[in-house]
Amino acid sequence: MTDNVRNVIIIGSGCSGLTAAIYAARANLRPLVIDGHEPGGQLSLTTLVENFPGFPDGVQGPELIENMRKQAARFGAEFKTGHVVSVDLSQKSEGDGRMPMQVNLGRETLLARGLIISSGASARWLGLPNEKALIGHGVSSCATCDGFFFSGKEIAVIGGGDSAMEEALFLTRFATKVTLIHRRSEFRASKIMLDRARHHDKIEFVTDTVVEDVFDVSKQEVTGLRLRNLKTGERWDFPTSAMFLGIGHTPNTGFVGDQLTRDGEGYIVPTDGQVCTRVPGVFVSGDVSDRHYQQAVTAAGTGCMAALEVEQYLEGIDK
Ligand code: NAP
Repeated sequence: MTDNVRNVIIIGSGCSGLTAAIYAARANLRPLVIDGHEPGGQLSLTTLVENFPGFPDGVQGPELIENMRKQAARFGAEFKTGHVVSVDLSQKSEGDGRMPMQVNLGRETLLARGLIISSGASARWLGLPNEKALIGHGVSSCATCDGFFFSGKEIAVIGGGDSAMEEALFLTRFATKVTLIHRRSEFRASKIMLDRARHHDKIEFVTDTVVEDVFDVSKQEVTGLRLRNLKTGERWDFPTSAMFLGIGHTPNTGFVGDQLTRDGEGYIVPTDGQVCTRVPGVFVSGDVSDRHYQQAVTAAGTGCMAALEVEQYLEGIDK
């Protein structure tokens, strides 16, 4: 095996990838972490995290991530900025040796004996005719990034899960009014988050309603939404200065193609229901394979499991 073959490459630097890096580094595997599009993952885009154990007063998401990163680096993890375009997991044998896996970053290809895929999931968009043209001009999926720009204005938030509640609550810091628009009258959000939003005097709810389009591309800013009530069929134009989406996430798994089993939405399906895949030496952790829990602490937990598995796998092939 040549010197440029890493023991472990970890794709993704969110809380799952960084936990995997801490464990792999402490096992002296000198892991290389590929940062990806969103270094730090979703925790780096959030504000106060109240449910990560060990922080009785909560902790800011970016601070938690920065600490994990420092902790991994302290034990020898290395980091590389880059976006994984494709991977080759075939490990074709040449002679009597197993070939390493390939991680293609476009400008260079990295080689690894073990791989942990922790590439997370990215925010979903509605797919409206004018939505894309207005991203960055009033259409956003990141309240913490863009909320400030709408100080003193009215804002609409779309969705009925915890993300939408969290965004709506956060945006009350800036907005004069937040309208939460949801396509049903039942909510996926946890009771505590839903109650907080319901009892906030700046937040109003519009239920059983979908957004059909967003205006006004010619002005290069959001001026309103075309809404439709699904029960009555009524359509109306709703004036607002911004539309923030909190409608869930799509897993970042395009680069694996059909080399691993993926479900209908693209989540990688672990063969053991946990972190193993059908390819020896390739493990998954965090939201990329978790369509159910999607919590920081579960992502960290599976990151730890994936690192322990990769360590055991490498010991096995070194025997
Ligand atoms: P989610 O729970 O899947 O909720 C997505 C919401 O968006 C649902 O209400 C869904 O409506 C709606 N939606 C999806 N596609 C839509 C479309 N095309 N048009 C209109 N509405 C659409 O996703 P999430 O809120 O991002 O939460 C994911 C996970 O992260 C959950 O486990 C959540 O608890 C966790 N999380 C936790 C916190 C926290 O604890 N602070 C914060 C954020 C997220 P339907 O209900 O009709 O399907």
